[in-house]
Order: sequence, then C-alpha cells, then structure tokens
Amino acid sequence: MRATALMIQRMTLDVLFPASADEAATLYGDGEGITVFAGGTIILPEIAAGRLVPERALMLHKSGLDEIRTDGDRVLIGAMVTVAALAEGDDPFLAGAASQVADGEIRRNATVGGNICSPPGDDAQRGDLGGALIALGARVRSTGAGGERTEPVEDFLAGDRAGRLVLELEYDGFERRTGAHSLRRRHAHSYAIAGAVACSRADGSDLRVAVTGVGPTAVRCRSVEQSRDPADVLKDVQPVDDAVATAAYRTAVLPTVVREALDHLEHA
Ligand SMILES: Cc1cc2nc3c(=O)[nH]c(=O)nc-3n(C[C@H](O)[C@H](O)[C@H](O)COP(=O)(O)OP(=O)(O)OC[C@H]3O[C@@H](n4cnc5c(N)ncnc54)[C@H](O)[C@@H]3O)c2cc1C
Repeated sequence: MRATALMIQRMTLDVLFPASADEAATLYGDGEGITVFAGGTIILPEIAAGRLVPERALMLHKSGLDEIRTDGDRVLIGAMVTVAALAEGDDPFLAGAASQVADGEIRRNATVGGNICSPPGDDAQRGDLGGALIALGARVRSTGAGGERTEPVEDFLAGDRAGRLVLELEYDGFERRTGAHSLRRRHAHSYAIAGAVACSRADGSDLRVAVTGVGPTAVRCRSVEQSRDPADVLKDVQPVDDAVATAAYRTAVLPTVVREALDHLEHA
C-alpha cells in the first residue's frame, strides 16, 4: 500500500492505494470516513463542485479488481473493469448494455463498480448496467460492516449500499435469449429516458426483466416476469421527474419500451 496526502480545498486528504482486493477490504473496514474512488466520472465533478469533501480516499486502481475471468460456468467481473472493457467483451448482451452508457470518453474511465454504486441523486439514471446485470441474474460480492456478503444485484440496489465496498460481480454463463430497448435523446452525453432489458433460458423459461433510467436505480420487474404483460411494469416501478424527462412522460412510454425488449427476446 502507498499512502500519500494531498491538500484539497484547504484540508488534508489521505489517499490510500491498496495493492490487492484483500488489502482494499482491510483498508475499507466498515467504510466509516472512507470515500471510494474508481473511474471518477461521478465523484470528481462532485468534489470539484464542493458538494463532497472526502477525508480518506481509497483508490482502487491498483487493487487487481480490473479483470473479467471465468470459473467453471461462472463469469466474474471485477469492480474496476471499465465500461469500455465490458463493451468490448465476449458477452454480447452485456457489451450491448455497456455500449449504451454515456460516450467513449466516459466509458474508458467509468467502472462497473462505480456504475452500480452511484448514490441516488437528482438524475434518475446513473446505473444503467444494473438492469442488464439483474436480467442476467448476477450477484454482487461486497464487503463492509458485518464482513463480506454475496447477494443478487436487485437486492443490493434496493438495499442500503452506503458502507459497502463492491469487489466483484458474478453470473452464470449459459445459453440465453436476450432483448433490450431504450429510449434516448441523440446527444452523445445524454442519459436514457427509459430502458428495459430481458433474459430467459434458450427455451424461453426463467424470464428476468429489469428497467433502468426511470428511478434512482435499476429495478427488477417481477410483475412483468409473471404475467409477461408490459403494462404491468407500472406495478414494479414508479417513474420519477428529472432533467431528462418528466415522470408523466416516462410513465406513458415505459410499457412500450418493455414491450420492445420482450419482442426482441421473443424473436432472438
Ligand atoms: C456525461 C456523462 C454521461 C453519463 N451517462 C451515463 C449513462 O448513460 N448511463 C449510466 O449508467 N451512467 C452514466 N453516467 C454515469 C457514470 O459515468 C457511470 O455510471 C460510471 O459507471 C460511474 O463509474 P466510475 O467508476 O466513474 O465511478 P466514480 O465516479 O469513481 O464513483 C461513483 C460512486 O460510486 C462509489 N464507488 C465506486 N466504485 C465503488 C466500489 N467498487 N465499491 C463501492 N463504492 C464504489 C464512489 O465512492 C462514488 O460514490 C454518465 C456520466 C457522465 C459524466
């Protein structure tokens, strides 16, 4: 570990550089007083604007969490894998989802861990990868108070993520049908207005559906999974207002976005 001290906004910031995942977990402890830095695409503007004044920074860049690997049938994605690496990866479904995040400049720095850990803000959609990961049935391995745990992405996103350091994501690699659709403006830096993703086994069983971009996090849509009726998405999520679109507009378009994703899956 290398520690250094920087003067930012006239206060001292301790900067920690763990050299392994274990060291990162130890330094993180219960997360008290620690700010995790990944790609910095969200956190650096927060610091520059003075909305966040960290005391201790945990820089994950040398922690060895930047690999995609397989273990038997499982695919494991380190928290520091960049969105660009996912977009260029072997899984066409994840690659498609990743290539929709922001633009090339952001994707080269932005990480998977940062994408699912972004704190809910005024914008509805800071974690689009969460949708694809939920549809894949992915699990998150994290550490913090109470030690390490592994849980479904949808539970992690719905729970209290503060005080958790994400180490890795994993999902089972088997043949799937997939479908995805999103509605967005043409501006390169724009977030999606609404997105839907769906996965099933090759025979159409075990449907999993998630939506992104309409609320603070990606959400699993169990009602749609059961009924296969896109209109039921409004039982699963309550769209919100933000600078990209109104809640009323999102409410109006969301069932169509889900229908498109299910149609793509049906014809995959
Ligand atoms: C112009 C622009 C457009 C964007 N468009 C999109 C978009 O279309 N879709 C989308 O989903 N996102 C978008 N984003 C948001 C963002 O860039 C991504 O979500 C990105 O993946 C965040 O990752 P990061 O590594 O940069 O996170 P950072 O900025 O480093 O961190 C973000 C937050 O997560 C925490 N964190 C990071 N890693 C971990 C970890 N391993 N464990 C625990 N906490 C952690 C940090 O402490 C911080 O609170 C956009 C951002 C910008 C600036």
